Amino acid sequence: MTGSPIIVLFRNDLRISDNKALAAAADTGRSVIPLFILDETGADARPAGGASRWWLHHSLAAFGKVIETLGNRLLLRAGATDSIVADTIKASGADTVFWNRRYHPAGMAVDAALKSRLRADALQAESFDGFLLHEPSRVATQSGDFYKVFTPFHKRLLADGEPRDPVDAPKHLARCDTTPASEPLDALGLLPTPDWAGGLAERWHPGEEGALERLETFLDERLASYAEGRDRPAEDATSGLSPHLAHGEITPFRIMAALRRKRGRGAESFARELAWREFYYHLLFHRQALHRENFRAEFDAFTWRSTPAALQAWQRGRTGYPIVDAGMRELWQTGYMHNRVRMIAASFLIKDLLIDWRDGEAWFWDTLVDADAANNPASWQWVAGSGADAAPYFRIFNPVLQGEKFDPRGDYVRRWVPELAKLPDRFVHRPWEVPASVLRDSGLDLGNDYAHPIVDHAQARERAMAAYRATRGDD
Ligand code: FAD
Repeated sequence: MTGSPIIVLFRNDLRISDNKALAAAADTGRSVIPLFILDETGADARPAGGASRWWLHHSLAAFGKVIETLGNRLLLRAGATDSIVADTIKASGADTVFWNRRYHPAGMAVDAALKSRLRADALQAESFDGFLLHEPSRVATQSGDFYKVFTPFHKRLLADGEPRDPVDAPKHLARCDTTPASEPLDALGLLPTPDWAGGLAERWHPGEEGALERLETFLDERLASYAEGRDRPAEDATSGLSPHLAHGEITPFRIMAALRRKRGRGAESFARELAWREFYYHLLFHRQALHRENFRAEFDAFTWRSTPAALQAWQRGRTGYPIVDAGMRELWQTGYMHNRVRMIAASFLIKDLLIDWRDGEAWFWDTLVDADAANNPASWQWVAGSGADAAPYFRIFNPVLQGEKFDPRGDYVRRWVPELAKLPDRFVHRPWEVPASVLRDSGLDLGNDYAHPIVDHAQARERAMAAYRATRGDD
C-alpha cells in the first residue's frame, strides 16, 4: 500500500453503490477510513426528528455491516465535524478527505469551512455529487436569477439531457494500520426511549439493500400504473423510496438509470416527481431559512390562531374528519403518510384551523421517516400559499370531498380509523350524517368512539378566505 490513507466522510449517503466519494477513494488503491459524523453542533443545525433518528440508527447498523464485508470498519463519531476530522487525521496520518455534497444550509456551511481549512493546511479535500441530479448553484434562468416556478425549471432540467450513469460499488476497501477513535452505535443516542418505533420497524427496512429492493419491486409491479394510482392512498401505488432518498441510501442517478429501461407514462410521471425534489432543493439553496421564513414576505402579516387543543387533535388524528385522521394516524404509527393525504391534512391544519404552517412542518419533521430539509418546508409553504409556485390561496381542500374522490370506498380510512370500519361506504367520510339507526348497527358511539368535527368546514372555509384576502390586501 502506498500513500497516506484517505478519509471518506459519511452523512446522508450511507450506501456503497453510486457513491462517488467512496469509489474515488477506493480507486486510488490507498487505504480508506470510512467515518460517519453526527454533527448537530452548528448554530444553524436542525437536529433530526425522532423518526429520522430511528431510521438513521438502523441505516448505520446496516451500513456498518456492508463496510465490514468490504474488509473495513465504519467509524462513528458525534460532535463538530472540523475537530473530529482533525482528530482522525492526527491519529491516522491521512492527507486527503473526500465526501459527497449535501445541500441543507447548516451542512453546506460546515463543509465549505472544512474544505477551506483542509486546503489551507495543504491537505487534499474533494467533494462529489450524488444526492441531486443537478447542482442547485448551476441552474439559473436566462436573466441569472433562480427559478420560482416549477414548469420552466423542469423544462430547463430536461434540456440538460439524461443524467450520468451510476458508479459501481467498490469490491474492497483497504484498511489502514492505525485505528482512529470510534464510538459504539448506541452511544449516538438515536433510538427513542421509551421505544415507540414498533410500527416503523414493521413497515420499513432502512439501508441500501432495502432501498434497492424497493426500487426493483416498484419498477416491476407498480410503475406501469403509477400515473393513475399515485393519488389513491388505499393502494400501494407509489415507490416508498422517500426515506431511502432522504437518507441517501439510493441516488436519483441510480433511479433514473433504472427508469431508462422502462419508459412510458408511469416512468415520465415518476421522473417528474423526482424533478419536484430537485426544484425544492433549488429553492432551499436560494432561501436557506425555508422552514422558518415565509417565501412570500406578505405572509409575515398573516394572523394565525394559537389553539393548542386543535393542534393536538390534529396531531393525534382526532379532528372528526376521517381522511385527515387516517393520515395523521398512519403518520404516527408508521412514520409515513401518503402524498395526497399529506396535502389534505396540511390544508386542514392551515386553512380549516388557521394554525401556522410552521407548527405542521415541525410535527412532520419530527414524525416522518422521510423528513427532508427541502421537501418538507417547501411542501408546507406550497399548501399555505406562502411558497414559490404555491397553490392559489382560494384552493381550500374540502376534506369530505377529497376523501370521497380519492378513497371512494373508504378502505384507507377503515385501515387507520378502525372505529369507522363498519360504516356504509357512503357515510365513511361524513360520519356525523349517519342516521341513528345506522349508527346503532355499526356499533359507533359518535362523540365517544370517534370525535365530532372540531370545526365546521363551510364556516372554516369562509374564515380562511377572509384571512387570506386580508393578507393579500384584497379587502
Ligand atoms: P413517489 O410518488 O414514489 O415519488 C418518488 C420520489 O419523488 C419521492 O420519494 C420523493 O423523493 C419525490 N417526490 C414525490 N412527490 C414529491 C413532491 N410532491 N415534492 C417533492 N418531492 C416529491 N417528501 C419528502 O421526501 N420528505 C418530506 O419531508 C415531505 N414532506 C411533505 C409535506 C407535505 C405537507 C406534503 C404535501 C408533501 C411532502 N413530501 C415530502 C412530498 C411527498 O409527499 C413525498 O415525497 C411522497 O409522499 C413520498 O412517497 P413515495 O416515495 O412513495 O413517493
